[in-house]
Amino acid sequence: PFGKSGVDNVVSDTSLTNSNEYQRENATFVTLCRNSDLWQMMNAIKRIEDRFNRKFKYDWVFLNNEEFSDQFKRLTSSLISGTAKYGVISSDHWSYPDFIDQEKAKKSRQEMEKKGIIYAGLESYRHMCRFNSGFFYKHPLMLPYKYYWRVEPDINIFCDVDYDLFKYMRENNKTYGFTISIYEFRATIETLWSTTKEFLSKYPKFVAQNNLMNFISDDKGNEYNLCHFWSNFEIADMDFWRSEAYEKYFQYLDNSGGFFYERWGDAPVHSIAAALFLSKDKIHFFDDVGYNHGVYSMCPIDENLRMEKKCYCDPEQDFTFRGYSCGKRYYDVMNLKKPDNWEKYT
Ligand code: GDP
Ligand code: MN
Repeated sequence: PFGKSGVDNVVSDTSLTNSNEYQRENATFVTLCRNSDLWQMMNAIKRIEDRFNRKFKYDWVFLNNEEFSDQFKRLTSSLISGTAKYGVISSDHWSYPDFIDQEKAKKSRQEMEKKGIIYAGLESYRHMCRFNSGFFYKHPLMLPYKYYWRVEPDINIFCDVDYDLFKYMRENNKTYGFTISIYEFRATIETLWSTTKEFLSKYPKFVAQNNLMNFISDDKGNEYNLCHFWSNFEIADMDFWRSEAYEKYFQYLDNSGGFFYERWGDAPVHSIAAALFLSKDKIHFFDDVGYNHGVYSMCPIDENLRMEKKCYCDPEQDFTFRGYSCGKRYYDVMNLKKPDNWEKYT
């Protein structure tokens, strides 16, 4: 349902690198972070480089709502085998749109904070979620690229990634790849689903034929079941975010004010769009990477796979089939065969 953006394969040909014969994809790593995230970022970069990027040498785009410090640029770029690029986010991508009532937004932050909702009082968190929902792929440094791999500070990769995940995406016609899925806190997105349903009734043409509605809803779309792909790891095709369907969806959500009056995350926004506007074969679970962010990990529970890929994680830590994960549902609605012994890890 989405057309070509026209920006892919333009600048990439020149940046398709100078030194090496490997035919890289039109792809980059992308990180949104602050200068104060430097050491956590050094961790994440080193891990990605050692497990994957030293072999493939993809570029890395860093974005920030302030200038990156010289120290940040100097130290992070020293670890990256592709070209590192550093961009500031323009204020219209990181500020209140004029239709937002800032008093109302402030009151709702206070109300949510009283309820003990995580990040409820943080204004910057809302700008971050809105930026990741509707703007990161419009940043001038991102425009030349088609695919991205999103990386956050302190993430870890547990397995050797010996094939090019971007090439996998293109060759297998995938649009959105993830490692962990989970339920959202309902209190952060009270009206996201009703707003989405309004959008769908206006634009039924954007809903894909063979979609993943059953992943995000237990009753064919009446209610949202809160399942989403955890967006701190994403490998995806930005032509999708740049498509008419997604742009209209983002505009519709943005105009409703929910990024500020509630605390809508980019993860449920991306996931609902991917589940509804893509046919399900466009979505891919990277089950062989091994990934950690914060308290959740993805670790292959198949020992042969772990040994083959030199994973060093404990399968007991694998979140995929645990109660608060949406992994089992994902396997079921995709008709995927679960690994042997998966019940031992529920
Ligand atoms: P969580 O994963 O939902 O707990 O949110 P994080 O605190 O990890 O933030 C998500 C991403 O946005 C991380 O890569 C952060 O470094 C980044 N981030 C969050 N807030 C800001 C901010 O105010 N400015 C910048 N530049 N980056 C931010
Ligand atoms: Mn995070």
